[in-house]
Amino acid sequence: APRSSAELIQAEGPVLAHNYHPLPVVVARAEGVWVEDVEGRRYLDMLAGYSALNFGHRHPALIEAAHRQLDQLTLTSRAFHNDRLAGFAEGLAELTGQDMVLPMNTGAEAVESGIKVARKWAYDVKGVPADRATIVVAGGNFHGRTTTIVGFSDDDTARAGFGPFAPGFRTVPYNDLAALEAAVDETTAAVLIEPIQGEAGVLIPDDGYLAGVRDLTRRAGCLFIADEIQSGLGRTGTTLAVEHESVVPDVLLLGKALGGGIVPVSAVVARREVLGVLGPGQHGSTFGGNPLAAAVGSAVVELLATGEFQRRAAELGERLRGGLAALTGKGVTGFRARGLWAGVDIDPALGTGREISERLLKEGVLVKDTHGSTIRLAPPLTITGEELDAALGSLERALG
Ligand code: PLP
Repeated sequence: APRSSAELIQAEGPVLAHNYHPLPVVVARAEGVWVEDVEGRRYLDMLAGYSALNFGHRHPALIEAAHRQLDQLTLTSRAFHNDRLAGFAEGLAELTGQDMVLPMNTGAEAVESGIKVARKWAYDVKGVPADRATIVVAGGNFHGRTTTIVGFSDDDTARAGFGPFAPGFRTVPYNDLAALEAAVDETTAAVLIEPIQGEAGVLIPDDGYLAGVRDLTRRAGCLFIADEIQSGLGRTGTTLAVEHESVVPDVLLLGKALGGGIVPVSAVVARREVLGVLGPGQHGSTFGGNPLAAAVGSAVVELLATGEFQRRAAELGERLRGGLAALTGKGVTGFRARGLWAGVDIDPALGTGREISERLLKEGVLVKDTHGSTIRLAPPLTITGEELDAALGSLERALG
């Protein structure tokens, strides 16, 4: 007999590493903004796979692209060319206004790859002495889980017990141009930041910060790497979050929604002078740029090229802001929102972020807490106004 949700949760305990503490729901099916558990209970997905599901679950155009590709060719490795990769790279470069694409799989791999490219650029082009390149990062960052990346995190839970860590990183406070200016010197290969810090609680820097980073890195002769893995691809109401300040970074890191919620697809996207530093054998990935990933990634690029999802995020984002403003003082102590993405601070007297998330689960809404009493809202960009209102109504009840 099929196992119940409770049985499946119990069965995980002894056989799955305990590096997550999921909410007690076992999802079995999904479509659009709705997921269904093993018992057939329906939930509105207000997390959207940390923005990997910007187009909702199983968007028909993406599923069709994947099915079509499954029937043709799924993997070649980069030992050979495949007939889907050129089109994917052309489309992604055009969408982002950059020149070249390095396809990878997960977000952390894109970040690692961006770090390697920036260092190589620093030695080959900028002339930094061998092994002296530094990369400046921001406090409160989240860029992934590899040893190098957690080494420059300041989240003790993510770091503790995993050293020794790679040298060559300097941390400055986020949203502080003076500190950044002081940290950048002739060894600096790049400044690596999230245009909006997602895991930190959807922290939006002051107007002018991203333009300031662009100006400073240009003057200092180092690269500006924007990690748009969570903020990019429509989430904030524009294709990229940096567009809110009309900024064009030297290097973009993309992931999550690039795989349409179907396969892991990430990429480093950059100008030719930068990504052009890589030669054969200097970097690679067995799965990076595989034809299935490229087919789904191309379909994602086509969806974004219509502008429809960015428009929805911008318009519905206004509705989300309005709803959260109405709850402020009624259990919500503050919020930060851009497009369909919000970090909502809950009055700690009403419960932790986790407790509020559990109450929302009972209301039929899936969210995830971040630090302390903050919950993050990031529904699929396909959500309707009525569904968004329903989610806000559930939040009001969960706070009441
Ligand atoms: N960078 C940012 C800004 C992210 O939000 C994340 C994931 O949450 C990552 C990188 C890492 O992506 P992945 O989990 O696919 O390795």
